[in-house]
Amino acid sequence: SASEEQSILEAYQWLAKLYHHLLYHTKDGKKGLEYLHQRGFTDETIERFQIGFSLPSKDFIVKFLEKKGYHRQLMVKAGFLITNDQTNYFDRFSGRIIFPIRNAIGKTVGFGGRSIGDQEPKYLNSPESELFQKSKLLYNFDNARSEIRKRNEVILLEGYADVLALHQAGVPNVVASLGTSFTDSQANIIRRYVETVVICFDGDKAGQNATYKTLKLLKKVGCHVKIAMLPNGYDPDQYIQEYGADDFHQTILEASASEMTFLISHLRNEYNLNQEGDRLRYVERIISEIALLDSSIERDHYLRELSDQFSLSFEALQQDLVTKLKNSE
Ligand code: ATP
Ligand code: MN
Ligand code: MN
Ligand code: MN
Repeated sequence: SASEEQSILEAYQWLAKLYHHLLYHTKDGKKGLEYLHQRGFTDETIERFQIGFSLPSKDFIVKFLEKKGYHRQLMVKAGFLITNDQTNYFDRFSGRIIFPIRNAIGKTVGFGGRSIGDQEPKYLNSPESELFQKSKLLYNFDNARSEIRKRNEVILLEGYADVLALHQAGVPNVVASLGTSFTDSQANIIRRYVETVVICFDGDKAGQNATYKTLKLLKKVGCHVKIAMLPNGYDPDQYIQEYGADDFHQTILEASASEMTFLISHLRNEYNLNQEGDRLRYVERIISEIALLDSSIERDHYLRELSDQFSLSFEALQQDLVTKLKNSE
C-alpha cells in the first residue's frame, strides 16, 4: 500500500544515515573506512555518495528499526531484515560496506552491500520490490543528471566502485547498471536525456560481451555509441588506481573507439581468419553491420577499411552492401 511504501522509503533514509554514521564513528566501522581509504576513495567521495557500513552484529539494526517503530515484517518486505522462522531477525547487510542506491528523484530505494573480507557473495543487493526494480534504475543517475545534460554525454560503467573512481577522477557524468545486464528501460531513460553514450565496461570477456549487447540496445533507441576499451584484466577503478586519472582520460576516454571499430575487433573472436570460409563469413558479417550505419560516408569509410585489410575488391564489397541495404528496405 501507499503508506507502507512511504514507511519503507522513510526507513531507507534513516538507515542510510545510520550506516554512514557507523562507518565514521564506530570501531567496527573503522575497518570499513580503512578498506575504502585503501582502495583510494577519499572522505569527500565517501561523503558525496553517502557510503556506509553495517555492523557485524546481526541484530543492531533490528533494535534500531524497532525503536523507530517499524514493524519487523515490513522491514523484511523492504529487504533490510531476513528471517527464517518469524522469530529471529537478522540484518541482511551485516559486516558490509553500504552503497545507497537512489532513484531518479534522489530517494534511496535500495542498498548494495560489499563484503570487506572473503565473505561471499562479494556484493549483495536489496531484493526486488515495487520500489527497487534493478532493471529500471541506474546507479548515480540523480547525481549525474545535470552533468550528463550539460556535456550531452554519459559514460556507462559496470560497478559502483567504478562510478566512485571516475567521479573522483573528475568525470561526473557516469552511471552504472546494478549488476544485472543493461535493459531496454535503462536505455530509454538514458535516451531521454542524452544522445551520446560511452560504454566503459570491464576489460574481460564478460565485459566485452556485455558491451556488444548494450551497444545493440542503445542503437535501438537511437543513441550514438562510443566504446572506451580497457586492457584485459582491468576495470575503470583498477585502471585509475594503477595509472592515474590523467592517463585514464587520455589513454582510455579520449581514445574511445567508434561502434564499428569495436565490432570489427569484437566479432573477429568468433571466426578463424586463417580459414578462407570463415574469413568470408566474417567479412559478410561486418558488411551486415556496416549496412546498419545511417551515414553513407561512414559506410564508405568502413567498407574501404575492410577492402584494404582483406585485399578484397572495394566494388565487390559495395555490391554486397547495396544488396543488403535493398533487402532491409
Ligand atoms: P569491486 O571493485 O568492489 O571488486 P566491481 O564493481 O569491480 O567491484 P564486478 O565483479 O566487476 O565488481 O561486478 C560489477 C557489478 O556487478 C558490481 O558493482 C555489482 O553491482 C554487481 N555484482 C558483482 N558481483 C555480484 C554478486 N555476487 N551479486 C550481485 N551483484 C553483483
Ligand atoms: Mn567484471
Ligand atoms: Mn569490475
Ligand atoms: Mn572493481
